[in-house]
Amino acid sequence: MDDKKETCRRCAGTGAFITRIENGKPKGPGGICFRCAGKGYQTDADHKRNDYYDAHIMPARVMGLI
Ligand SMILES: [Zn+2]
Repeated sequence: MDDKKETCRRCAGTGAFITRIENGKPKGPGGICFRCAGKGYQTDADHKRNDYYDAHIMPARVMGLI
């Protein structure tokens, strides 16, 4: 097993885009988890992309810049 692969916490390894947990089951609008690109686990490349997103894209959206 490659220890660089880490189960995606955003989608609990399902690879699906989840917005909430309902009765212990993941629910969401469907589509692919953007955190792991639908793989269900995150690699170093995914971590880098997510770190960039959290540091730059998300704050800009929250502030209404984009
Ligand atoms: Zn995921």
